[in-house]
Amino acid sequence: MPTYEYLCQACKYEFTLIQSFSEHGKAKVTCPKCKSKKVKQLVSIFTAKTSRKS
Ligand SMILES: [Zn+2]
Repeated sequence: MPTYEYLCQACKYEFTLIQSFSEHGKAKVTCPKCKSKKVKQLVSIFTAKTSRKS
């Protein structure tokens, strides 16, 4: 399962979500701290490297 890192633009809280590829992009991500929907996805270099190897 890939993990996605997000940054809340409202409270600057960083969190990680585990989502399947079908869930990702469909599911509305909300900040677990302040419930804001203004969340931005961060690029995970680690995940990209791992998937390229296998
Ligand atoms: Zn927040």
